[in-house]
Amino acid sequence: MTFLILLLTEPIKPVTMSTQENTIAPAAIEPGQNGKPLHLHCYVAGRKINTENKLSVNSPYDRRLIGTVTLAGIKETNEAVEAALKGGKTLNRYERYSVLDKTRQLLIKRKEEIASLISAESGLAIREARYETGRAHDVLMFAAMECLKDDGQVFSCDISPSGKSRKIITLREPLKLAVAITPFNHPLNQVVHKIAPAIASGTPVILKPSEKTPLTAIRLVEFLYEAGLPPYMLSVLLGPTSEVAEQLVKDNRIDLVSFTGSVAVGKHIASTAGYKKVILELGGNDPLIILEDASMDLAVTLAAEGSFRNSGQRCTAVKRILVQESIREVFTKRFVEKAKEYTCGDPADPATVVGTVIDEPAAIYLEEVTKKAVAQGATILLGGRRKGALLEPTVITDVPRNAQMIVEESFGPLAPILGFKDIDDAIALSNATAFGLSSGVVTNNMEHAIRFVKELKVGTVNINEVPGYRVENSPFGGIKDSGLGIKEGVIEAIKCFSFIKTFSIPW
Ligand code: NAD
Repeated sequence: MTFLILLLTEPIKPVTMSTQENTIAPAAIEPGQNGKPLHLHCYVAGRKINTENKLSVNSPYDRRLIGTVTLAGIKETNEAVEAALKGGKTLNRYERYSVLDKTRQLLIKRKEEIASLISAESGLAIREARYETGRAHDVLMFAAMECLKDDGQVFSCDISPSGKSRKIITLREPLKLAVAITPFNHPLNQVVHKIAPAIASGTPVILKPSEKTPLTAIRLVEFLYEAGLPPYMLSVLLGPTSEVAEQLVKDNRIDLVSFTGSVAVGKHIASTAGYKKVILELGGNDPLIILEDASMDLAVTLAAEGSFRNSGQRCTAVKRILVQESIREVFTKRFVEKAKEYTCGDPADPATVVGTVIDEPAAIYLEEVTKKAVAQGATILLGGRRKGALLEPTVITDVPRNAQMIVEESFGPLAPILGFKDIDDAIALSNATAFGLSSGVVTNNMEHAIRFVKELKVGTVNINEVPGYRVENSPFGGIKDSGLGIKEGVIEAIKCFSFIKTFSIPW
């Protein structure tokens, strides 16, 4: 307790818990001008909200104040819905393209500032934050491109004995209003993955970003306004859950709730949303399955990248490393050596590979599940030490199949290794959790690869890649507790944020 109080009152000295010395200077750019905290507002259809309620955002690394946000309440939530439904200038396809493309250009121009903001408010290493801006760039580019395409179809009706001389044609129309609720783990990319497809569809959207990382999300909204988006098309609200998020979810004037976050909140939304479309992108517990015929170099690299990138806080991070028994010893030895390269420390330092997790309670949870696994017979081979929200990348072996960190989602830089006997065992072990998001299989045998593609109960199987591999416009999403099987990714999300109208004419 004393330690916790100290952490809350006294900034942690910027120590690096790495085995290597950091020699590169910290990133020069800080949030706000001259490193001062940013003071941002929620927006109702382009109008800055002014209320007494403020949210403080502190660095997960050293607790310094990164910024504040003026919060919304039930009144502003209602105003945002009304402003969106009242409408305004309708953008044609070219105009939607232009808004998204200008936002992309703004992002390129202000990339370092945005990357610094992501890193400061989330504790992600600056190199990860820069990578994330690149992903967001691609999302905006693909969404802009989709504005210029029409996926309408034509059905000739004279194609059966009972046919007629007519044609049926499909049109894609915008929804009245959508709500996007996003998690903390990619403060920019999670948000842009919902907002850009909504705009490409011409659908007004109210964004409710994570209270843990709101500053980047609000900056993106400001970019979109600056790029010429009509204000009624976008509001951004943060505030008490019962007054903002829950009101929006159950409001029957809203056509769609697109949610990315935890299973518990996702299932709660499913039970309260009522008669509207619901898209749920929930948690994961993804395996990397390494067969005895795999290239060892590749297996070791994928296991490390998949487990530790983004501080292990990706829905598709490798959460279970499943290795065939015949190569387990060799793999484990090589993997521990590789994992030593993933040094953790000050997120602003360009040499830091792994930053903090989102907050101290999250790090404590990870520490506790590790201790529980050890009590069940597992062994920590590397890492495991924690300071505040900074948790060393941790390699654990001999983890029992029923350990909490294996059965549930462990959202952080933990790399538990489990052995399997043969392919049947690997498939059974992989499918044994409640989740079904993604997976990676490392093998040089095409027959084996195909078996995994067919038999894993997941949304994605990546052969010789990490489970998280994707391009931003390919279909993405999970099944079982990871989601309802409705895909996101720019193209699929545009389908969700619109509906198809058909018309038919004599022909
Ligand atoms: P979370 O569920 O705690 O919060 C997500 C969002 O829901 C936040 O904006 C939060 O304010 C909001 N929220 C909280 N209570 C709510 C309620 N009662 N009604 C409506 N909204 C509510 O998730 P998190 O901790 O921010 O994110 C981590 C989780 O997200 C992990 O489980 C991770 O696997 C998952 N995730 C999934 C994907 C995917 O694509 N499948 C991607 C990224 C993250």
